[in-house]
Amino acid sequence: MAVRQIRVMGDEILTKKCKPVKEMTERNLELIEDMFETMYQANGVGLAAPQVGILKRIVTIDVEDGNQYVLINPEIVLEEGEQTGYEGCLSVPGKSGIVTRPNHVKVKAFNEKMEPYELEGEGLLARAICHECAHLDGQLYVELVEGELVDVGEEEELEEEE
Ligand code: ZN
Repeated sequence: MAVRQIRVMGDEILTKKCKPVKEMTERNLELIEDMFETMYQANGVGLAAPQVGILKRIVTIDVEDGNQYVLINPEIVLEEGEQTGYEGCLSVPGKSGIVTRPNHVKVKAFNEKMEPYELEGEGLLARAICHECAHLDGQLYVELVEGELVDVGEEEELEEEE
């Protein structure tokens, strides 16, 4: 396992559409292991393969709910509700911005054994799934930010809306 270099905004690779994974190979397994290691080292809750320079539709997520999610060729099939809150990205270091996302999503994907499965998530998990899947199509959250990007640590308390 190895920590890989995280690409940052401005790197063209982050704007490209990733290719579907056709089969699980040693190389892909190693990539998945490295993605988890890279994500944990950077204190992230999610990482997409293009963030380490690989244009494959692979996402890793760990929102500290006791699971390590691997989503290969993910496809969001259901979005419900709404949540508005600060979001950050390991490819946009030191910044945070307000993004509205669905509060509940269902995603179809394959696991690291290339077995199909479905994952449903709420709250932070739903946010992470949406954020990471967008990376696979070359989209960064900064395009969705309401207002300005702020420095991490300077987020203001969001007012609860009735
Ligand atoms: Zn990101």
